[in-house]
Amino acid sequence: MTHFIDGAWREGNNGSFDVFNPATGEAIGQAARGGRAEAEAAIAAAVRAFPLWSASTAYHRSALLYKAHRIMTERAEELARLMSTEQGKPLKAARNEVRYGADFLLWYAEEAKRIYGETIPSARADQRFMVYRQPVGVVAAITPWNYPVSMITRKLAPALAAGCTAVLKPAEATPLCAIKMFEILEEAGFPAGVVNLVTAEDPAEIGEVFTTHPDVAKLTFTGSTPVGRMLAAKAAGNMKRVSMELGGHAPFIVFDDCDPVHAAKGAGLVKFLNTGQACISPNRLFVHRSIAEPFIATLKARTEKMKIGSGLEDGVAIGPLVNEAAIAKIERQVNDALDKGAELVCGGSRATEGDLARGHFFAPTILAGVNEDMLIYREETFGPVAPVILFDNDEEVLERANDTHYGLAAYVYTRDISRAMKMTEGLRFGIVGVNDINPTAAAAPFGGMKNSGLGREGGHEGLDEYLETKLAGFSI
Ligand code: ADP
Repeated sequence: MTHFIDGAWREGNNGSFDVFNPATGEAIGQAARGGRAEAEAAIAAAVRAFPLWSASTAYHRSALLYKAHRIMTERAEELARLMSTEQGKPLKAARNEVRYGADFLLWYAEEAKRIYGETIPSARADQRFMVYRQPVGVVAAITPWNYPVSMITRKLAPALAAGCTAVLKPAEATPLCAIKMFEILEEAGFPAGVVNLVTAEDPAEIGEVFTTHPDVAKLTFTGSTPVGRMLAAKAAGNMKRVSMELGGHAPFIVFDDCDPVHAAKGAGLVKFLNTGQACISPNRLFVHRSIAEPFIATLKARTEKMKIGSGLEDGVAIGPLVNEAAIAKIERQVNDALDKGAELVCGGSRATEGDLARGHFFAPTILAGVNEDMLIYREETFGPVAPVILFDNDEEVLERANDTHYGLAAYVYTRDISRAMKMTEGLRFGIVGVNDINPTAAAAPFGGMKNSGLGREGGHEGLDEYLETKLAGFSI
């Protein structure tokens, strides 16, 4: 019973599918195979719940979000362990994700009370303008497997704070984390129909319902650019609002005025975080030619020490990839780069020693001498490969960094304030980290330019995505 519809756990009519631990290949649970019927039932419940929920006070919605935050914090360890088992990331990283995910409940519990309107002076003495901010309506949400807990709260917390009701479909690889999150929301006491969960093995049928159903006002999606583009196109045909958090191809630029050892430590930490399975993962390390040697030597030494294994094992830094297709994509990009003249600094192949053979592991890899003819220079990798590209001057590196259809995150290492400002302003990316490898927080807007998406999550911008503006003109 893994669909949560209208305040009750439901079985559905299509049986269930197995969920696997990517580190061992073992089945660890099951989720119901939802389809059109479940999606429609969930939307109907959300429609019924909307009038009361949207009319409830911001203080009431805030109190429930605070309660959900408290329960999630109490269950943090349980959630983190489940996440390591189902998704594969090291336990420490899973704990960080739970904390980051819980932060959205807390932040939007606070922000719910600050959904302010506006009055506007009129040119007519007998007229008054008032601007209201009202919830958009029923929200359909689709979340990915790489951050299986925080992507749920990053969408649902602002939607609920705004007064929307919601239906969520999690990724087929990680429904168990979503189920646990919904148990928390259920315990927090959101009224029946306000939040609904439909699990599915085949996402396409539910995507079709979400993008065409007349009662869905807004689609919020996090996932790959091709799927996002397809869903946004369908949603546009039905004039639905959309938020799209899609792929990235982050440049990581290391200037010659910075400490190459410090920069290499940062690069290794952010590149191999979640085994490279993050949309803000650096996909091109641009290093100034004059400091390439110490940078690569430090990165190599640290990378070679990284322990590969199950996220639940002590000291593991590199967990499994999500599936075999991910391994195949990485192998294709690495082999293509090597065929075209890149140098293999370390790693380069899947890891199969001992128990690793049972899972989808790939050794953390550094490629030097990468150039624009290689697939990895353009394609998102979503895996533990750090491609190093040398550069000579600021104008050149800015132009090359921007030479991508993606525009999510970018990183710059420099001690020169004017260089830092020029790069920040010149980079066509939604998020820029300057000597900072973690430029994300519940309070800050997250999102991309170009093919990396539409809209922002987090911060007050994240709330705007769930609000309509209504103007009232009064003649007095
Ligand atoms: P990835 O390639 O990283 O797995 P996807 O974009 O395929 O990214 O998956 C992100 C989310 O999108 C998941 O919840 C997945 O089930 C969903 N998804 C994939 N294809 C479709 C589709 N045709 N319609 C709706 N959702 C989809």
